[in-house]
Amino acid sequence: MNFLEERIVKDGIVRSGNVLKVDSFLNHQMDVSLMEEIGREFHRRFAQKPITKVLTIEASGIGMAVFVAKEFGVPMVFAKKSKSVNIDADTYVAQVESFTHKNTNQVIVSKKFLNSEDHVLIIDDFLANGCALKGLISIVEQAGATVEGLGIVIEKGFQDGGKIIRDMGYPLESLAIVESMDAETGHISFRRQ
Ligand code: 5GP
Repeated sequence: MNFLEERIVKDGIVRSGNVLKVDSFLNHQMDVSLMEEIGREFHRRFAQKPITKVLTIEASGIGMAVFVAKEFGVPMVFAKKSKSVNIDADTYVAQVESFTHKNTNQVIVSKKFLNSEDHVLIIDDFLANGCALKGLISIVEQAGATVEGLGIVIEKGFQDGGKIIRDMGYPLESLAIVESMDAETGHISFRRQ
């Protein structure tokens, strides 16, 4: 098991509805040393790519994306959830269905912060059905920028997102891939990588 898998087994809580709670160390209370390690690991995996921006989605992707961006020495941009119906011409927009809240959010990025010269590494905490990543890919495409790769902290391998994104041809790296999890026993197994 790698450093992250060990932590998930120790502190992750399996909830019904295929939800894994990791809020004691990843997306509510954050273990900053673990975040640093996550940043270093994504940097190692994408070091050959000419990354100019790290892109994530608010709120829970922001913590880890900051540490990734620090390793690359580039800015981190996050897509904001926006309720406004009057999106101005200066923003890229995508619709993202939320896995955890079961609603659809409109997310926006200002055109000031992403353009056709950019080489983007997309980062998020979880990958389930792939809606968040598809929204972020759409924003990069609207900018005419290049998606150099996608980094996920925890992929739930028994849901479709990973296959969808890999079938689209994008380099996707997940630090832990949960193969199965059981809300009754709390047992979690990982895909060998
Ligand atoms: P997707 O868009 O791939 O269906 O879901 C990914 C998004 O939903 C992530 O941004 C993450 O915030 C949230 N998410 C999906 N599955 C889980 C989960 O098991 N636990 C937590 N805490 N968040 C999840």
